[in-house]
Amino acid sequence: MCKTPKICPTCGNKKPLTRHHIYPCQWYHGAGPTYKLCRDCHSELERYIPHKWVLTTRECMDIFQSFINLKKAVLKCQNF
Ligand SMILES: [Zn+2]
Repeated sequence: MCKTPKICPTCGNKKPLTRHHIYPCQWYHGAGPTYKLCRDCHSELERYIPHKWVLTTRECMDIFQSFINLKKAVLKCQNF
């Protein structure tokens, strides 16, 4: 097993990556696409998901996509 930290595609930091289930496991039991990002970004993304009711896969995807877009915009600003 290679333990070299990878570059997080979301924040650009060199950190070990975790796997995020775009459709939360509590509702979709591991089905659907996953995305690799660091622990910090992962925790941040989880905060955008309301766990009070079951979201549709469409809603999960929308939350995920707006998070990625938000982080990409921040990353762009930092590179200037
Ligand atoms: Zn990150």
